[in-house]
Amino acid sequence: MISRLKGTDDILPPESHRWRRLLRAFDDLAQRYGYDLAVMPAIESTELFSRAVGETTDVVEKQMYTFEDRGGRSVTLRPEFTAGMVRAYIDSGAQGIVKLAAAGPQFRYEQPQKGRRRQFYQVDLEYLGEAAPGADAEVIEFSYRLLEMVGVDGIGLRLNSIGDASDRIAYRGLLQDYLRRHQSDLSEDSRRRIDSNPLRVLDSKADAEVVGDAPVPFDHLGAEAADHFSEVRSALDTLGIPFELDPRLVRGLDYYNRTVFEFYSSSFEAAQSSLGGGGRYDPLAELIGSRQAVPAVGVAMGCDRIVEAMAAVEVRRLNIYVVVADRDRTSDALRWVADLRGRGLKVDWDASTARSVKSQFKAANRSGADVVSIVGAEWSAGMVSMKVLGTGEESKVPVEEVEEWMKQR
Ligand code: AMP
Repeated sequence: MISRLKGTDDILPPESHRWRRLLRAFDDLAQRYGYDLAVMPAIESTELFSRAVGETTDVVEKQMYTFEDRGGRSVTLRPEFTAGMVRAYIDSGAQGIVKLAAAGPQFRYEQPQKGRRRQFYQVDLEYLGEAAPGADAEVIEFSYRLLEMVGVDGIGLRLNSIGDASDRIAYRGLLQDYLRRHQSDLSEDSRRRIDSNPLRVLDSKADAEVVGDAPVPFDHLGAEAADHFSEVRSALDTLGIPFELDPRLVRGLDYYNRTVFEFYSSSFEAAQSSLGGGGRYDPLAELIGSRQAVPAVGVAMGCDRIVEAMAAVEVRRLNIYVVVADRDRTSDALRWVADLRGRGLKVDWDASTARSVKSQFKAANRSGADVVSIVGAEWSAGMVSMKVLGTGEESKVPVEEVEEWMKQR
């Protein structure tokens, strides 16, 4: 028997009930906030990620599923949505504001553990073409509401600003001086990054002690970035979204500027506890070679972890299970099932049409349906028997009144 690959999951019922709830809530909320659906390729040019996410990031250095396709091109299974969404915006010739929502799997070659998979799922929003702080506040508010809506307890939000690239020139030098002074106490990865990507050292868990006293970008914001950040905070206050300032939060990727944030939940305990995160990424479009500047902000929420932080979802799977009591009524029953489904009810039946009434009732009980609708002798008089499974109470109802009868229950 061939088994599934390490770090991948089969998400089946009952766990998948929570997934469905999450994906529906996301879709519903995205529409309410004016985000259109984007369905994105799972495979892109490797260069898209190495340029946007950054050559010296963990994702690009260690985690990408990269291979040569049969045409000799280097391709990569997407490790994230953002770079592809900006590429799509530019490819499509879009101008101005485009608000997009996407959901789907991402691939990162990681050491699997709780909350850390090789194929994992994200729901993602990108607010493209808007430089104003209101857009930052909106994607943050959206994420908070989504977590609230699916019943995640103890939602926490860490917020920071890492300023603009121009603010970082002076700051970068200060940080490098500090890190060089403490070189001998740093992990090998961090030592290597002093020259190539010193900011990345700030979120190295292995170096928490050294990093604790390092200078932070937040203390070196230029006037514009500082104003932007104070407007984001004030909008969140207005919206009643609680947050903690975390001057050490930088997030690993190269494309971010200004606002960065991360959500967590006190009910989800794992080494990897972040439920989602994002930020502003005005530089990204130029990193991938666009001449057009595309100011933008976005968020990616990790479905696998959100689902772990959600309470179990009880679902009544079916409204009606149709039982065929009279074999000669099989085609009537087939039409009846289709008719009920067409009216929006959740309906199932025994597709074999050959099992005994007793075994059809067994299946009805297993299905968790509210009511059994029995197609039998009374059908010729335009009636069906409706039997409530919980109470056993049974009544004969005219076929055309069944929908109303279900509503009245
Ligand atoms: P990132 O793009 O790394 O900021 O990830 C955004 C969110 O995706 C994180 O907050 C996690 O919830 C989720 N995530 C990232 N990597 C993984 C993974 N390997 N397994 C499960 N979830 C992940």
